[in-house]
Amino acid sequence: MLETNAAWAEQAPGLGGPARPSRGTAVVACMDARMDVYRLLGLVPGEAHVIRNAGGVVTDDVLRSLAISQHVLGTREVVLVHHTRCGLAGADEAAFADQVEQAAGQRPPWPMRAFADVDDDVRESVRLVRESPYLLAAEVRGTVYDVDSGRLRTVV
Ligand SMILES: [Zn+2]
Repeated sequence: MLETNAAWAEQAPGLGGPARPSRGTAVVACMDARMDVYRLLGLVPGEAHVIRNAGGVVTDDVLRSLAISQHVLGTREVVLVHHTRCGLAGADEAAFADQVEQAAGQRPPWPMRAFADVDDDVRESVRLVRESPYLLAAEVRGTVYDVDSGRLRTVV
């Protein structure tokens, strides 16, 4: 990876520029390795914040990042990207906590945030962003990306 980076840095044009995302957009997406968030949304560096975690769920830390994105760096639109065949769909919270405890010796204090239905989870995430007292809930979109077809579908 370091060698790839060295070669890339040699030929990368026009890096740097302002930190403020030029499209005024923050994306919250699952960390799934099959999702190239920039390419599937047609974004290039400099245009949007991309905040990722397992499930693309709205945690306190996502709200922290969105608050910085909006109040410090001027974004106004939030796009949530969940996806089909997510590892958190139908996952077993207790089994995961058991697994962590057995492997690492400590039971995690936070939930895995498994969900039953991806559309319901997108709606819940949109609600959490809209109802956060720290955010400007101007425009919030919830979508589901199909990892097989590459298509993005709007839920809300
Ligand atoms: Zn996922």
